[in-house]
Amino acid sequence: MKYLDEFQNPELARRLLDDIRATVTRPWALMEVCGGQTHTIIRHGIDQLLPEEIELIHGPGCPVCVTPLAVIDKALEIAARPDVIFCSFGDMLRVPGTDRDLFRVRSEGGDVRVVYSPLDALKIAQQNPEREVVFFGIGFETTAPPNAMTVYQARKLGIRNFSMLVSHVRVPPAIEAIMTSPSCRVQAFLAAGHVCSVMGMDEYPELADRFRVPIVVTGFEPLDILEGIRRTVRQLERGEHTVDNAYPRAVRADGNPAARAMLADVFEVTDRSWRGIGTIPASGWRLSERYRDYDAEHRFSVEGIATREPAACRSGEVLQGLIKPHECEAFGTTCTPRNPLGATMVSSEGACAAYFLYRRLGSTPTPLEATPVV
Ligand code: SF4
Repeated sequence: MKYLDEFQNPELARRLLDDIRATVTRPWALMEVCGGQTHTIIRHGIDQLLPEEIELIHGPGCPVCVTPLAVIDKALEIAARPDVIFCSFGDMLRVPGTDRDLFRVRSEGGDVRVVYSPLDALKIAQQNPEREVVFFGIGFETTAPPNAMTVYQARKLGIRNFSMLVSHVRVPPAIEAIMTSPSCRVQAFLAAGHVCSVMGMDEYPELADRFRVPIVVTGFEPLDILEGIRRTVRQLERGEHTVDNAYPRAVRADGNPAARAMLADVFEVTDRSWRGIGTIPASGWRLSERYRDYDAEHRFSVEGIATREPAACRSGEVLQGLIKPHECEAFGTTCTPRNPLGATMVSSEGACAAYFLYRRLGSTPTPLEATPVV
């Protein structure tokens, strides 16, 4: 069916795989940045279908997973206040904080609500003028524009009982941090297509040049991933390192100018801590001075929170591509999607959840013939 399976065609997948096999002559390590791409790769067994010379390293592109523990704990503290209606996308409710999660806060009487858009939270604020309504605004360049627009609307409409707890992150500084890490093995990147559909591609040529790595903007369907890998391997084998767009049906060179303008108006770049990784300079956004009144951290002055990560969780190593999820001792035993120790097991885009969901319980690959492409 058009739009549903046209990018999952097995015959085209075989042709792309043949092309990759014919091109590769030596080992290469590629990082897919986005957790959505990781799920496509694991779900369809793409990593197992590739020639053994190609290793796919899963990157830190799961927004829920990289939201720092301190911000989760701030969310929990704000959500527990009796005058607050705390609104969030559903996948944040089970992310463990230091000693509880948002589901626990709700079971203890907190007014925690799942919304499908930040504008729903703004509507709740209009309907409840006597309560403070807080939206949990997290994620990459993809979720930032609607969140920026919501704060813009709140200010324009004079809705004073709305605020946002912001923890937005940006991909290019993360690529820089990965490439400057002493343990880095990454030789090329599959960049996240949806991020580039907003931001365009002009942040990447300098990175490709400085670190001499191909960066190929890649989509999310199986054929998108294979085409991204094919183009990446071709560059690596030729000794090239350019930015290439393998997702032209969604990505333009300048991205979405209206969304970028909204981001520039509402947010300003700031240093940001990434869960399991640490602080990366200039890797996040916060509300700019003009919109600071809508910043929940300022409104509720939640400072001085002491955080404690579970000792058994190795999600930081997973997020940096240093280990695969099944190499964590807790994987599938004390840590499962039902009882997650870390955010990478909670989120629908987390690598640990993908490995558990699609039964990657060990390092032994299943026979290629037995692994369906679609
Ligand atoms: S399997 Fe669980 S404990 Fe291990 S790294 Fe993943 S989330 Fe953390």
